[in-house]
Amino acid sequence: DLRQALQESRLERYLQPKLRLSDRRVTGLEALIRWPGRSQPIRADELIALAEQTGLIKPLTRWVMEQSLELRTRLLERGHDLDISVNISPNNLREPDFPVFVKRLMGSYHSHQGRITLEVTETSMMQDPENSLKTLTTLEQAGIPLSIDDFGSGYSSLSYIKQLPASEIKIDRSLVKDLVRQADDRVIVRTTINMCHSLGYKVVAEGVEDEETLGLLADMGCDEVQGYLLTPPLPFDAILEWLDNDEAGKQRHSG
Ligand code: C2E
Ligand code: MG
Ligand code: MG
Repeated sequence: DLRQALQESRLERYLQPKLRLSDRRVTGLEALIRWPGRSQPIRADELIALAEQTGLIKPLTRWVMEQSLELRTRLLERGHDLDISVNISPNNLREPDFPVFVKRLMGSYHSHQGRITLEVTETSMMQDPENSLKTLTTLEQAGIPLSIDDFGSGYSSLSYIKQLPASEIKIDRSLVKDLVRQADDRVIVRTTINMCHSLGYKVVAEGVEDEETLGLLADMGCDEVQGYLLTPPLPFDAILEWLDNDEAGKQRHSG
């Protein structure tokens, strides 16, 4: 089914915005895969696991990346100059021709140079640290920005992470969701933000669902937030509408 859905372009990419806290502006969008129209709905993480088991992660990631470039072109035409982040799987890093594919794709679109960020989870890289580091370094040298996803969710080795050529760290939702109620989580997140800043990373908090959490993160000096407070991931047309409405900065800025 998945193979066919891919071939027939029946998968969809939804987009979720990232907001910069200093000026409350949207800086980018994360592309997230969806498989609509199924009688038995399947979550994105299950779909990705299935794609990894069946070898379909290679065409799936390539499809998402090509789509992201196309969507970015359409966004530019509508006056939205935003970055797009694409999630990649550790299996992609093991494809010998992945860097070549990415470089060729990016090279054919000058206007997207440096504006498509690859997100990799910290735990996934630990499966094959040496090879991941090599591939990511090659990509970075080709001008592809890298983001560490789900930071703080698993076992990570800081000595490994600091070798990675990443420019951004995304703090996992599990550390963000109880920030208002859990003093311990506030200590962890504040310390993480300070540490990441000292190491030169931009810090994004995932899964922000309420104003109070956003306020705490702003006080802690977090750079950007993503989450249902802004909007859940939406299909392209809906996100365009959201961005057009947001342009005036109406909704959030009341507080
Ligand atoms: P992720 O990259 O960490 O993406 C963030 C997930 O958190 C998304 O789940 C998003 O819908 C969800 N989320 C965002 N804001 C909130 C919030 O305020 N509250 C809650 N409860 N959830 C929020 P989604 O779309 O189900 O994706 C799950 C995971 O599947 C992603 O985690 C990513 O690891 C993977 N994934 C999704 N699309 C792709 C893809 O195209 N390629 C690859 N390799 N992985 C993907
Ligand atoms: Mg992600
Ligand atoms: Mg994440």
